[in-house]
Parts: sequence; C-alpha cells; structure tokens
Amino acid sequence: MATATFDSYNPSTGELIDSFPRSDAADVERAVASARAAWEDWRLVPAPQRGNILFRFAQLLERDKAGLSELMTREMGKVKAEAGGDIQEAIDMSYYMGGEGRRLFGQTTPSELPDKFMMSVRMPVGVVGAITPWNFPIAIPAWKLCPALVCGNTVVLKPAEDTPLLAQRFVDLLHEAGLPEGVVQIVHGFGEEAGEALVRHPDVPIITFTGSRETGVAVTKAAADRLKHVHLELGGKNAIIVMDDADLDLAVDGVVWSAFGTAGQRCTAASRVIVHEAVYAQLQSKLVERAERMKIGDPWEDDTEIGPVINEAAVDKIHSYTEIGKNEGATLLTGGERVEGNGFYYRPTVFADVEPQMRIAQEEIFGPTTALIPVKSFEDAVQAANGIRYGLSSSIFTRDVNKAFRAMRDLQTGITYINAGTTGAEVHLPFGGMKETGNGHREAGQAALDVFTEWKSIYVDYSGKLQRAQIDNVESPAPR
Ligand code: NAD
Repeated sequence: MATATFDSYNPSTGELIDSFPRSDAADVERAVASARAAWEDWRLVPAPQRGNILFRFAQLLERDKAGLSELMTREMGKVKAEAGGDIQEAIDMSYYMGGEGRRLFGQTTPSELPDKFMMSVRMPVGVVGAITPWNFPIAIPAWKLCPALVCGNTVVLKPAEDTPLLAQRFVDLLHEAGLPEGVVQIVHGFGEEAGEALVRHPDVPIITFTGSRETGVAVTKAAADRLKHVHLELGGKNAIIVMDDADLDLAVDGVVWSAFGTAGQRCTAASRVIVHEAVYAQLQSKLVERAERMKIGDPWEDDTEIGPVINEAAVDKIHSYTEIGKNEGATLLTGGERVEGNGFYYRPTVFADVEPQMRIAQEEIFGPTTALIPVKSFEDAVQAANGIRYGLSSSIFTRDVNKAFRAMRDLQTGITYINAGTTGAEVHLPFGGMKETGNGHREAGQAALDVFTEWKSIYVDYSGKLQRAQIDNVESPAPR
C-alpha cells in the first residue's frame, strides 16, 4: 500500500478535510489484479441481478442525499441546490441503468440460409479504468460505473485528487448495496502517477475518461500502444445564441444559470453569448445587472448563488483570462477580480465587444466568465458558434420555429437546447460532444451501453449439413 498521502481541502475555507493514500503503480497493479479476478464471476451474474444492486445503490443515495450534498459543499464548493442536483443525477442514472439489467437488448435477424438462426448480443469488455474530474464528483462516477457494472464489467476508479472523499463514499455505498468484493476498486492520487499507470495497464482493455482536452490527448496516446478502447468526454466552449425575437428576460435567466452556475466550472458552461445586434445593448445591461446582484459566498447557505472555484490554481487561471481579454481589446463590463478574504472566490465576469477569434472566445476558462459576441444575422451567429475546436453544447433563444429547427440542424454540438441555457442534461439521452470534445462516443442513455460492451454476432445452424453463406444460397442471375 502507498505510504505517501495527499490532502483534500475545503475550497471555501481552506479547512483540511482528510488525507488519502497517494496510490502509485504498485497500488494500481493490485487493484487491477483484484478487479480482473472478480470479473470472472461478475460477468456471469445475471444482468437483472446486477441491475438489482444498482436499484439498491440508488435507494442508498436517496437515503444519504442530504449528507452527501453537505459533504459536496465542503469538499468541492458546489452550492447546496446544485450539490443536491449532482447526487440526484447519480440516483437517476442508477435507476435507469438498473432497469437496463432487464433489457441490454441485442438483435435477431433472419438468415439468408434455411434452418439457421442469427443474433447479436452485448458482451462485457473486462476491467474498465474510469478516470473522473472533480466538477461532478458523484454524478460522473455514476455515469461511468452504473452502465459499466450492469454490462458485466468490473471497474478501477481513479477519481480527481480534489474530491477523494466523495469518491470514497460513492464506492462505500456501492458495497453497502451488495456489490461483491473486488468488483469496484478505487485508487486515489494523481493523474500522472495512478491515472497513467491505469491507462497503461495491460489488463485494462477500456478507459473511460472525463476531463480536459489536454489530458484526453495524453490518455489517448498512452492507451494507443495496446489499442485500448478509449471513451473521452472533454472540454467545451459552449455558446448561447440570443436572436432579436428572443424573450430577453428568459435568455438572461438562461445565461446566468449556464455561465455562472457551479461558478462556471461545468463542461457545458455558457462561456460565449452570441447576441443579435438589435438586442445587444438591452441584453448586456440586463445581464450585468443580474451578475452584480448574485450572492457569492458560503456554498452551504440556502441563498448563495456562486460558491468558490476549486483551488488556487483555478483562481489564477481564471484571472489570467481576465488579463488576456483586456489585452485583446474586449471590454470588461463587470467582475474580473478575486473576492478578497478566505477561499477561492471569483466574481461573475462579463466581457463585451468580443471577437469570435479572441482567446477568451476560443479557450475553455472553466470559471464564471462569459464573453458577449455581437452579430448581425442568424447565419453569422451559427458561424461564430461553430468556429471553435469544441462541440459539446449549444443553445438558441428565439421565437422563430424555422430558426430553431435550422439551429438544431446546423450547430455542431452533441447537445442543442432551444429556449434554455447550455446545461441541463437528463440521464436517458446520450451526453457528449462533437469535434474535439470527445472521440465520437457518448455517455448516458442507450449510447453508454456501446461504450461498455462489445457486440458478438452468433450464428446457429440447425440444418445438420454444411451451408455456405454467399455461395449455397445464390440464385442464378435473372434472364436479361
Ligand atoms: P483534468 O484533465 O485535469 O483531470 C481529470 C482527471 O484526469 C483527474 O482524475 C486527473 O487526476 C486525471 N489525470 C490527469 N493527468 C492524467 C494523465 N496523464 N493520465 C491519466 N489521468 C490523468 O480535468 P479536471 O480539471 O479534473 O476537470 C475539468 C475538465 O473536465 C474541463 O475541461 C471540463 O470541461 C471537463 N469535463 C468534461 C465533461 C464532459 O462530459 N464532457 C464533464 C465534466 C468535466
């Protein structure tokens, strides 16, 4: 066992929460060996029984929702209502994937030959290496582990170093729900150490990773030597389009929730607002007024709207983008500074007169900063929205049904909202992004099953003789 440790801190007070083992390659080796051994039995447990464990897990999450929410406000700084939402997402996912234990549908199809039966079935892949970020510290592990487990895989989880206690509680509850020993292992510690060892381990055929684009590239490279399956959910630079016919108050509600919720630390955060010039001045003043009224403070207070960001490095990064925006010639309308005192707080920040190519409109800031980009038409808005490397979420506020449908078709993102902000996914639709937000896979919904299973095609010949496909059944060509 690792003897080195690392600490987890409360981002709003700096209080030490606890110390955790800093797992190294030897710990990963042991965890993978246990998960590999457990897989031999787990893959044979009937899927409905695996699903039943997830139902019990969902019930335990419901039982502990208040306590886990409180812990999330302490360990990660998410405000109370949002912390409850994070846990609810895990509850929803556990119930949804629990039900999948009685589906996991394959296909049957007629054979081209007589007395022959054909079907495809989903097979588990083996030991899943799951690497998760801190910003949805209960929901994202659930998004990965629930489908992985119901499909018959075992898992080694490497959670983010900023939220180890929440991850530990998550795994403890899975065991309380009846998950057999060994099926889920947890290794704490750092990405370059425990994370990379997991990605490189020969007995881990599949990696599911959520985090930044840069780490996603490193994970892909490290996994390439063994041609592993790699499932990536990476960053975003999501845009809300506000057209001249929009309900502006509704649009401002959507921007405030999507840009400043979770202090902007969501992959789906609206860090760009593309606004038709006819309503630009009006939207700008309404947004600034709302941003300046937001209550920043202790995340466990009921009326707090913006809690801390995760750590000192995050404050520095967010502030560096404020400087970048100013130097690029954008107009800082409000915010742009750290809140003095304890904890890692940053004011909601709005830049105006932003050009689509500026760095503040191109790069993921992951903080409460948004950039207003004026445009003259719907076509310009779509072009600006698509003019980035990422493709996670997008939204349009308009009352014009034709524009709404064109936006659904033309915005190059895995998720598009109409008359709602860029955030608010539900567990039963696929979640993920186009372009460099990922590598074509999707989390959640039925799509997650494709990540955590391999298709096997099965042919059963009951004719009692050799039947050759593509040869014995070919009729003579029709006369010309
Ligand atoms: P991060 O990439 O820094 O870390 C994510 C995880 O990867 C952590 O557990 C970390 O320890 C591990 N890691 C780091 N280096 C590694 C390496 N070389 N090998 C293996 N593992 C390694 O990201 P973060 O700061 O924790 O999270 C924020 C990022 O996550 C943002 O870019 C955000 O957009 C993204 N995110 C994406 C989604 C999505 O579904 N698309 C959801 C949430 C967050």
